[in-house]
Amino acid sequence: MKPSEHIRILGRGLRLLYEMSPAYTVTFLLEALVSAVTPYVPIWFSARLIDAIAARRPVGALALYAVLTVGLTFLLNALTAALARNAGAGIEELSQNLDWRYAEKAMGMACADVEDRDTALLRERIENEANAGFNLYALRTCAANFIHALVRIAASAVLTAAFFRAGGIPGWTKPALAAGVLVTILAGMLLKSREARIQNRFFEKLVDTNILAEKMGWFMLDYARGKDIRLYGMAGDLARQDLALGLRVTRERARAGIPASLLTSAGKALDFVLRFGVYLVLIDASLRGGVSVGSIARYVSCLTLLIAAATELVTTVQRTLVNDRYLQRYFSFFDIPNDMYKGTLTVEKRDDNEYYVEFRDVSFKYPHTDTWALRHVNFKFKVGEKLAIVGMNGSGKTTFIKLLCRLYDPTEGEIVLNGVDIRKYDYNEYMSLFSVVFQDFRLFAVSLGQNVAARTDYDQARVEDCLKRAGFDERESAMPKGLDTPLYKDFDKDGVEISGGEAQKIALARALYRDAPFIILDEPTAALDPVSEYQVYSHFAAIAGDKTAVYISHRLASCRFCDKIAVFDAGRIVQSGRHEDLLADPSGQYHALWTAQARYYTQPPTA
Ligand code: ADP
Repeated sequence: MKPSEHIRILGRGLRLLYEMSPAYTVTFLLEALVSAVTPYVPIWFSARLIDAIAARRPVGALALYAVLTVGLTFLLNALTAALARNAGAGIEELSQNLDWRYAEKAMGMACADVEDRDTALLRERIENEANAGFNLYALRTCAANFIHALVRIAASAVLTAAFFRAGGIPGWTKPALAAGVLVTILAGMLLKSREARIQNRFFEKLVDTNILAEKMGWFMLDYARGKDIRLYGMAGDLARQDLALGLRVTRERARAGIPASLLTSAGKALDFVLRFGVYLVLIDASLRGGVSVGSIARYVSCLTLLIAAATELVTTVQRTLVNDRYLQRYFSFFDIPNDMYKGTLTVEKRDDNEYYVEFRDVSFKYPHTDTWALRHVNFKFKVGEKLAIVGMNGSGKTTFIKLLCRLYDPTEGEIVLNGVDIRKYDYNEYMSLFSVVFQDFRLFAVSLGQNVAARTDYDQARVEDCLKRAGFDERESAMPKGLDTPLYKDFDKDGVEISGGEAQKIALARALYRDAPFIILDEPTAALDPVSEYQVYSHFAAIAGDKTAVYISHRLASCRFCDKIAVFDAGRIVQSGRHEDLLADPSGQYHALWTAQARYYTQPPTA
């Protein structure tokens, strides 16, 4: 990475830290500054105190030094503690805001990117790295350590400068002392960089294992899977796999820890040798009258702090440089562009409702696949029409809807709304045209009313009406708190568990509440009992009202009520028209599907 790139990334990281939590950023930097200067107060004043005692100064002066030493140290420590406390609360805010960024990004990302395996892995990786203390968290620590080290180096240099100006000290001792300090700093730097390299290698090597171990942990804890894990006796095997992953991480950490701790010990030994040398030089200088007794402790303490700060500075710079790679990866996730949001046109609000949608030679492949999920699809339908889509599993019905709703863009061809390519419309405005219930819809562990309205402040009467139209009114009246009843037990022990069919009805009510011009139902009756299913499709026209409705179903009988039926086969529309016309063609796919289903319902199964 070029130096300019390092500077760019650091600037961006620091700006982001400040944006995510301004008060916290200022607090932790201040804390670093105050804690850096704190030890110099007792060092300076106790040296003055000892010198004053040695010079037999009056008791008042001695008491003043004692009060200043203790009082100022107390004040600075109290200030550091207060700042640390605020920083502790601030880090909560920072981590919450940083977590929220992932969710915000996921919401703003194209569906194709969210589903993309590489993107998912990238997200998991950066989250894992953040948990291990890298990227923005490391930057935060590095920024604080950098200030801390710089302040200490400056303060130590100022407080030891007098030694190098003092007379009565043999000439060779000053360069010898300077050389000793320099050698210790350089050796410390080398040892620390070696140690950091070992630790980084360990982390790089194990990040994938960490991700797996974490996933495995969640997998075991997810209560929705608990039933199957029990039924199929999988717990033992899964636990063993989880344990093996954990053991691997522990073993590798221990292996990396041995050379790292040897290096730390070597650094410490060198530090003590130097400190011993400094004492000898200073005692000698003191005996010769070159330095005062009080200054001995001051110089030793300052030199020790100087060496530690220099090592800290080097370690911090090294860590920052390494962390920039992590930050680069972190930002690369948030920089994934979203082409979905390029359109700017507003969707025309037509009073006459004369919208039409047309697929023009549309073909589509899912990302990273080689097969066409849709191929040369041409299709036009008008607003207000009730369209049914039928076909075998995997024939492209859901994909057709996903493209219509712009969850994906066509690989070839275009989809137009009133003659304009849908990519040119403002994404959010275009999306607001559709109410969709996909097969894999999700409800949330919030109240029934909130689930239907998809917001906390909602029109109760309208929610009730939508639930009624979706056939959920009876079940709702049996719920203990009506619309306020929480679904599921994730957040509330009084939450109710609902069946798949009930969930489907709630999802249908949610689509109705949205009141968009298009209502799209993908297999809306798959989980319903035959009576409920009959109710949904026989009242489909009433449920959909004057909206444009697209209805995907396996059950051909439920599609008879639609104005138009499109028959999908292997990604193509092979037939379209009214039920009677399609059925009249005995060589058509629709006829084949219809007779296959009719036989299923009217004849006993043959052995
Ligand atoms: P249908 O709704 O008719 O059952 P789909 O539209 O869901 O069919 O699927 C059409 C084809 O696209 C199938 O071959 C399916 O395997 C494939 N497909 C569907 N979703 C994805 C996806 N997210 N990634 C890759 N391939 C997919």
